[in-house]
Amino acid sequence: MEKLEVMLVGSANMDLVIRAPRFPEPGETLTGSTFQTFPGGKGANQACAAAKLGSRVKLVAKLGSDAFGDSLMGSLTECGVICSSIYRDTDVSTGVALITVDDSGQNTIVVSPGTNALLSAEEVDQAFGGSPGKVVLSQLEIPLETVIAAAQNAAESVFILNPAPARQLPDDLVKLVDVITPNETEAHSLTGILPTDHASCQAAAEALLSRGAKHIIITLGGRGCYYAGPNGHRHFPAFPVQPIDTTAAGDAFSGALAMGLARGWSMESAIQFAAVAAALSTTKMGAASSMPTFSEVEAALRV
Ligand code: ADP
Repeated sequence: MEKLEVMLVGSANMDLVIRAPRFPEPGETLTGSTFQTFPGGKGANQACAAAKLGSRVKLVAKLGSDAFGDSLMGSLTECGVICSSIYRDTDVSTGVALITVDDSGQNTIVVSPGTNALLSAEEVDQAFGGSPGKVVLSQLEIPLETVIAAAQNAAESVFILNPAPARQLPDDLVKLVDVITPNETEAHSLTGILPTDHASCQAAAEALLSRGAKHIIITLGGRGCYYAGPNGHRHFPAFPVQPIDTTAAGDAFSGALAMGLARGWSMESAIQFAAVAAALSTTKMGAASSMPTFSEVEAALRV
């Protein structure tokens, strides 16, 4: 059997999006227009990103035994993600995000984590079963002890933590991290330093290096990303595109980075590839559906 490249431990949600002329007042019922459902959750998005790029990716996650769970299983399978370690709970519903988008494009979001909050450290240990994959990738939409279990199981692998959404991390976890990929907000919340320019990026990265993380990549949206690690530090510019929807750009970046590092690429090559994959994901609507294929990234690099 082909070796697993990326073991992804994370969340999967169904996003329920309704468009309305404005947001309702408390107690008001408002008539909106279109309603759409989108597979989401940072774990599922990053798994799809790596799988669409051709990586052998297994997702360790938990869904409910409901229609949203079935639908997410379908979309993950369609992306090429290995779903044999996706647990199904019979009592709690699949995680959902209720999103209202108003006519000006602003949104309000209420998330029910559902089964994502139930994925346990024991289930992670069981899913790894001694074959972790070359890269293990996790985020923070599942319990912290579950993320720590993923990191511990990754002792022989490269452990990438995308620390999203922002929350404080214990030093014991940061020490186990090979590569951490915060965006500006997450870097600010982790270090107290808002990375706006070269000096503040360097200060935020050094704060994370001093806590024991080995490589730091602060993603800066349309301004690219800042890298710091054992071989120095540098800024990588963004790949120029005309973005139409930047949802899940960070997910595309972390998924693609995992794919590259699992193939044994240098950190520099993996970051450059991830920057192109993330940029291309902003040129299409949606999350999982906007992730590019390997040949689309190659074609963009040739132009
Ligand atoms: P998040 O989605 O987690 O907030 P960022 O917005 O920092 O993450 O985006 C992650 C990466 O996606 C960036 O480092 C960059 O490589 C790419 N990216 C994001 N926005 C753009 C853009 N407007 N143009 C080109 N690349 C982009």
